[in-house]
Amino acid sequence: MKAMNIAVLGATGSIGASTLDVVGRHPGRYRVFALTAHASAEPLLALCRAHRPSYAVLSGVPEDRALSEKFKAVGAELLFGAKALERVAGDPACGIVMAAIVGAAGLASTLAAVRAGKRMLLANKEALVMAGPLVMRAAREAGAEILPVDSEHNAVFQCFHNKESVRKIILTASGGPFRSTPLEALSAVTPEQACAHPNWTMGRKISVDSATMMNKALEVIEARWLFELAAERIEVVIHPQSIVHSLVEYIDGSVIAQLSNPDMRVPIAHVLGYPERIASGARPLDLTIMKNLSFERPDERRFPCLRLAYAALRAGGTAPAVLNAANEIAVEAFLGGRLPFTGIARIIAETLAAVPAKPADELASVIAADAQSRSWAAARVLAQAA
Ligand code: NAD
Ligand code: MG
Repeated sequence: MKAMNIAVLGATGSIGASTLDVVGRHPGRYRVFALTAHASAEPLLALCRAHRPSYAVLSGVPEDRALSEKFKAVGAELLFGAKALERVAGDPACGIVMAAIVGAAGLASTLAAVRAGKRMLLANKEALVMAGPLVMRAAREAGAEILPVDSEHNAVFQCFHNKESVRKIILTASGGPFRSTPLEALSAVTPEQACAHPNWTMGRKISVDSATMMNKALEVIEARWLFELAAERIEVVIHPQSIVHSLVEYIDGSVIAQLSNPDMRVPIAHVLGYPERIASGARPLDLTIMKNLSFERPDERRFPCLRLAYAALRAGGTAPAVLNAANEIAVEAFLGGRLPFTGIARIIAETLAAVPAKPADELASVIAADAQSRSWAAARVLAQAA
């Protein structure tokens, strides 16, 4: 079998590392074609030394001849700037694209890969949140396959057959590090506490999203477009052990779930090998040591972001893009010590109320809503600090 070329966008991140770990376990099967990072040149260079891609991209760094020479010495042509992400994502020589850039910054390259008809391994949920209908339509038109990497969506994908018989899907959420913190203590929690997730090791942005449950909120929107189900048929339950990754309920009362240890290499190996199964390196699940798998309803007072996502879906058009952008600004402010934890949901709610939803048929409208939401949310953060 000829090795398949893969581009890993966001290679220096948490998903990037897990992807390269799985890829490295199957040397004849995949060939690393391109690796990208925003500004971390040295970690990217180390990855290039190990994986020998044809291209490397630094999207947030100005052109630098000396740096290019260093990459050339390990066999990679170094490209600079955000446009280079789109170039490698759409390159005809590359068959598989792992979209693992964090945030709205991943939208353009995700769309470029989809338009080029690639097999898309989609971790960058924000692209679907912002522009779900656009991305899905582009995939249909170009014949691109979108395979979900997000563990919940990957679980649903594995359990989802015969759509007409599906009653609903149930996304599980760990509840994050503050699931039982007294409500009145939430305003004083620190970024370090928020990033200390009980079950998963992830990038800082998604870790904060897990603590506010905005991560699950974004995932409801992601699921709405991936599985083409109305929001009422997407439910969220808290499952603190993160063993059951999501479930599909059928009209006959059957519920099918996917289980594994919490290790992103499991869904990554699933989409890499699909429809075959390949080894992931994850520890096998030992059912006999599992004394308690529990499930509970999320508390709306503790996790107001969940309600905001359903409201954004109801409002439609650019509202999910507004929600996403306001969240990115608020999370950045929280991580920078400029906003209390409880301010995140407040900023998002205020921004959703202030920035009107418009039709989202064009990428330009989505980008405009994203920009408008960012400037509004940033102004609110400043006003609250004053
Ligand atoms: P991370 O912060 O660890 O890594 C992000 C990567 O994106 C890095 O390689 C970074 O260089 C790059 N990047 C950052 N800003 C960029 C920009 N402006 N332009 C171009 N590249 C940029 O993030 P992560 O935890 O690996 O998450 C990546 C994506 O996968 C997110 O969308 C997240 O929601 C999703 N996801 C992550 C996990 C997880 O376990 N980490 C699980 C499910 C979904
Ligand atoms: Mg997830």
